[in-house]
Amino acid sequence: MTAIDTDPGTDAAFAASAPLPSLMARAREIRDAQWGDTVTYSRKVFVPLTNMCRDTCGYCTFVKHPSSPEANILTPEQVLAMAKRGEEKGCKELLFSLGEKPELRYDAAREGLARLGYSRMTDYLAEMCALVLRETTLLPHVNAGTLADDEIEVLRPVAASMGMMLETVSRRLTRKGAAHHACPDKVPLQRLRTLERTGERQVPFTTGLLIGIGETWEERIEALHAINAVHARHGHIQEVIVQNFQRKPGIAMEHHPEPTLDDMLRTIAAARIILAPEISLQAPPNLSARHIDYLQAGINDWGGISPVTIDFINPQHEWPEIRALAASCEGAGFRLQERLTVYPRFLAERDTYLDAGLHDSLDTMARKDGLARAQCLEVGSCSSTPQTSTAAAR
Ligand code: SF4
Repeated sequence: MTAIDTDPGTDAAFAASAPLPSLMARAREIRDAQWGDTVTYSRKVFVPLTNMCRDTCGYCTFVKHPSSPEANILTPEQVLAMAKRGEEKGCKELLFSLGEKPELRYDAAREGLARLGYSRMTDYLAEMCALVLRETTLLPHVNAGTLADDEIEVLRPVAASMGMMLETVSRRLTRKGAAHHACPDKVPLQRLRTLERTGERQVPFTTGLLIGIGETWEERIEALHAINAVHARHGHIQEVIVQNFQRKPGIAMEHHPEPTLDDMLRTIAAARIILAPEISLQAPPNLSARHIDYLQAGINDWGGISPVTIDFINPQHEWPEIRALAASCEGAGFRLQERLTVYPRFLAERDTYLDAGLHDSLDTMARKDGLARAQCLEVGSCSSTPQTSTAAAR
């Protein structure tokens, strides 16, 4: 890795307007200097704690209306069974994904929670994180959407990291007929507030953009600057995901055009140039057959890959088999390595960013450079790699 000169002002103007090949070359230069030839993923099990949600995003296939027989809240027994399956298959992370605050809108969600002994989904979520920590080696990551101060405080001791896609800063998309109409949690100000609050409480945090849902290029650039600004204040953004909108049968946006590969590459490259180099840049490998091209635009991470469960958010897209992904990374000159839900930089500053109750679990799971101690390329082939002397923080 080599040092590289960056000038945020010049780079931002360049990212907004340069031709794609120059943009990608500059993004690669920044990525290579910070992250080298290592590209990471997190082996995780997805647990959809509830598929009810008070929002109605036009692109969502995850959500079920409470009147649907498929609407549910998982019981502790179901959560634990999924967690154990993940643990058996070498997962290190358990991702709780769930709809946002369904109990504020639907009687069925309130009643379902009451049967479990709770009045607020966040409290049930925190209890399920604690259960996972008690009964398994998995580290919980929670993706619960917008969070108030007290919700972050309830979750922080039991969640190694948290996440919420900013998606967009476009308020136009909350208008009638647009992707975020009638979605109180998708008002950009609410999401920006969650980014700020989790920063104030020093939570390792994942966020990102969902591209192609009706936003303009300028709005994407604005969203990247907003993420970078909150990170400059608090240092807590561990990764940014650039995710492409996918058409799915039956959704409100079924006929909306998907972003092109060039659009995706341009956005990834602009993100790498605009964001602080220490923020990991991720794009999901299962949403494009051409995902290996993303490496040429500056990503250093593939995100969560599950050997157990489908991607509940994009269920029609299978995860690439991990060994095949490792081979294609190698073909592109990269080494695929497994990381934890918490990036090495935060492990190196554990007293600031991680609750003391999580330290033992993290010590068990991490090797000296902060990546996963047991590297698993396929089910049943996890191996403990020798500890290296590489500095934990990059
Ligand atoms: S907030 Fe998430 S779960 Fe709820 S409708 Fe939107 S995308 Fe679906």
